[in-house]
Amino acid sequence: MISFVDARAHVMAGCSAMPPVRVPLSAALGAVLVESVTAGGDVPPFANTAMDGFAVRAADTVGASDGSPVALAVVGTVRAGMSGLDSPVGAGQAARIMTGAPMPPGADAVVMVERTRDAGDGQVAVLVEVPAGHHVRPAGDDVRDGDLVAPAGTVLTAGHLGVLATVGASDVLVVGRPRVGVLSTGDELVDDGRPLAPGQIRDSNRISLLALLRGSGFDAVDLGLVADDEVAIERAIRDAASTCDALVTSGGVSMGDFDYVKVVLDRIGEMRWMQVAIKPAKPLAFGTVDGSGGRAVPVFGLPGNPVSSMVSFELFCRPGLRRMSGRDDVDLDRPSVVAVVDEPLTRRPDGKVHFARVRGRFDMSDGRFHVASAGAQGSHHLTAMAGADGLAELPDGPTLDTGSTVSVRLLDTALGL
Ligand code: AMP
Ligand code: MG
Repeated sequence: MISFVDARAHVMAGCSAMPPVRVPLSAALGAVLVESVTAGGDVPPFANTAMDGFAVRAADTVGASDGSPVALAVVGTVRAGMSGLDSPVGAGQAARIMTGAPMPPGADAVVMVERTRDAGDGQVAVLVEVPAGHHVRPAGDDVRDGDLVAPAGTVLTAGHLGVLATVGASDVLVVGRPRVGVLSTGDELVDDGRPLAPGQIRDSNRISLLALLRGSGFDAVDLGLVADDEVAIERAIRDAASTCDALVTSGGVSMGDFDYVKVVLDRIGEMRWMQVAIKPAKPLAFGTVDGSGGRAVPVFGLPGNPVSSMVSFELFCRPGLRRMSGRDDVDLDRPSVVAVVDEPLTRRPDGKVHFARVRGRFDMSDGRFHVASAGAQGSHHLTAMAGADGLAELPDGPTLDTGSTVSVRLLDTALGL
């Protein structure tokens, strides 16, 4: 057996960042920026009002109150999208103004409409004294011309995309997003909803793995189902390597007589077949096969048992693919928390690290995350995976008792995704 740490290091060594590509902002969510973006102008580009109300000269409002309002002559209206007013706002004058509209020349403050009254005769009664700059958003208040708004290495969030749109960056140079093919293998598998013949089961790994890939922002490609046939498996892997940046297979990497995925990868790829000291997901084949244009295409041969394939995805595949997407080493895994064990998490010493499927909850009374088993822990017990908020990492040793602490990798459900 190989330790989890060594297996993980081996996988990571085979995954390197994709070449940069220029993409429109609409396709850049989650991507890692290769080229820094600086602002080519101020944001906001002009001084504008934060409120609906009246643009005034602050000096005119001195002493204004509910009891003694100041009457100003309304000389016009400035709407958002207008460039301004024909003539400046003079002493004793005000302009009606809408949120986002540019401050008209002459005016230096805004009185919100709620602090005014109609005074008749084209006049507005101002009920409050305001200082210069009141409710005015100056040009460059958020971003200044020349500011670095997103340095290279930024993982682009929805907020970053908004900032980039604001400064007019319509496309960005980012690390490419890997296109990842998913293949199921096994003579027993059925994927078309027909009644099961004796010995058959339905393919569940492919739909789960495709969903995990899409949920993590990768470009997932469904490569279908292949029988336990060496020739067919080789053809499927070679075809996929010519169109994909990485492949994920499930099944066919165990000790069985018809586990051809590892046989094929052994022959056509630079690969290693590992028995990792973890439970579930002990067998793992990983290596690279030649793709088009001399590319080395990483292949993750995940175990067939449904829970194993998903756990293996979390521990090896997702981090490797994130590395390909340009993520930092510290940013490869889902976040972990130290959690309080609410019910014993049973295990025996066996030389392996166990990854138990747990439900979790934040307890407001002690401010901590608490976990309990999400159900039966066999590698075929997919329902516990469905109900899991995290994978609790049980070090080799005995049962973790109630009240002890455990490190938990939070799955997307725990984060409210
Ligand atoms: P294998 O790794 O091919 O020996 O498969 C291990 C177990 O996982 C067997 O019980 C298979 O029937 C099952 N299995 C393999 N592939 C899938 C799949 N795509 N969906 C559901 N179960 C699978
Ligand atoms: Mg099989």
